[in-house]
Amino acid sequence: MADVAVVGGGILGATAALHLAWAGADVVLLERQPALGTQTTAAGAGFVGYWAGELEAQLAEYGMRFYADIEERSGGDLGVRRVGLLFPALSEPGVEMLRQEYERELHFAPDVVMLDEVETLRAAPILAPGSVHGALFQPDAYQVDIGRVMRALYDELRAAGVDVRTGTAVAGAVVEGDRVSGVRTSAGTVAAGAMVNAAGAAARALGARDGVDVGAIPLLESRFTTEPIAAVTPELPMMLFFERDLLYLREQDGGLLVGAIERTIEDRSRVDVADPPSTGDLPDHAVWEHERLARELAGVIPALADVPVRGHASGLPTWTPDGRHIVGPAPGVGGYVVLAGCNECCVTHGPGLSRIVAELVTTGATDADISPYRVDRFAGLAGDDVQAAAEQQYLLRHPPAEGVAATPFGIELP
Ligand SMILES: Cc1cc2nc3c(=O)[nH]c(=O)nc-3n(C[C@H](O)[C@H](O)[C@H](O)COP(=O)(O)OP(=O)(O)OC[C@H]3O[C@@H](n4cnc5c(N)ncnc54)[C@H](O)[C@@H]3O)c2cc1C
Repeated sequence: MADVAVVGGGILGATAALHLAWAGADVVLLERQPALGTQTTAAGAGFVGYWAGELEAQLAEYGMRFYADIEERSGGDLGVRRVGLLFPALSEPGVEMLRQEYERELHFAPDVVMLDEVETLRAAPILAPGSVHGALFQPDAYQVDIGRVMRALYDELRAAGVDVRTGTAVAGAVVEGDRVSGVRTSAGTVAAGAMVNAAGAAARALGARDGVDVGAIPLLESRFTTEPIAAVTPELPMMLFFERDLLYLREQDGGLLVGAIERTIEDRSRVDVADPPSTGDLPDHAVWEHERLARELAGVIPALADVPVRGHASGLPTWTPDGRHIVGPAPGVGGYVVLAGCNECCVTHGPGLSRIVAELVTTGATDADISPYRVDRFAGLAGDDVQAAAEQQYLLRHPPAEGVAATPFGIELP
């Protein structure tokens, strides 16, 4: 009998299993796909930066250290680079918006700086002179190659004694009395004293089978990569243009990896929450819209005018009605722990959240304040309201069309 069964082998489940094994637990990791990290994690753009508030800043710092350490332990190149994250402003109101964001971030990210136009161009020589007015810069931010990281994680899980079972789908928990005593899988029952639901886009559907309400709504998100570009070097900082639908880009294999955030959500970006598709079956319309957006940015980054697209990927990050993660014990089912609601930032926050979950499972408590992530906080909301509020959180990341927002990321913080 395992101490704990972790369901889902994306970045959340894999790092949870590793932290649990480090804490001395006997762990079985169950993933229905033939390999780890093939779903939303594989589509991740690999930006590891400061996205939200103070609690999340601690998670981000933990993530930065985690990736730097795993690369060092692996002895190989996992594409983990501290290149920093640049938010170029394309207008004077944009500079003002970033200045407000800078004041906010100073409380938890003391190294963050504002750059003037000349400093911005020096930091990112692929920007056209005269196209930017300044920038906010997070020098600590890392980029990671999440595919390589997942392969290294697989080796570490095996070395730490985790029983990794791919090709094994979990149907739900086995509950005796009011406690988890195992999980039902496509290959029979696995006895376990606890279960971690880290099923990503399927976390809500999986929870529903055991009466656990997980307020995490999957929505389509896509990005693409380009062929190599001469001016793109490995030192290029990651960039995010909040005045251009949060178009983001970073170096990838000598070219750029580019994505953006939708301005509206239509049916084609929604999926059946009760049975979300695998990422290989997702539509690719968002990819081509992002490509159009990128071509329109050629006045700022001339290389974007005609560089050929090399490949693309889509995933289903999950959104919550208040933009915060869902982490902690499920009410009413002893030993059932939820690790979900990524809000599209769990390459960054995943390792830190996983440390917390391992502590919860192995000691029954954690030193982190996870009350904002409580599992039952959306209990009063009907399913349609959860969907509508989660979509609103997705859209909130856009700054208002005019004027100045308190944060370009739209996350309303206490
Ligand atoms: C285009 C894009 C760009 C992104 N960029 C960034 C970024 O730059 N920085 C950042 O921090 N985040 C980013 N993200 C978000 C990040 O990728 C996600 O937050 C993260 O990958 C979520 O990990 P996960 O483990 O929850 O999900 P997944 O990777 O989807 O893992 C869940 C796993 O559970 C498995 N599963 C589901 N149901 C079952 C079952 N019943 N039994 C067994 N297994 C099951 C699935 O097969 C899957 O492998 C991006 C996402 C996208 C799509």
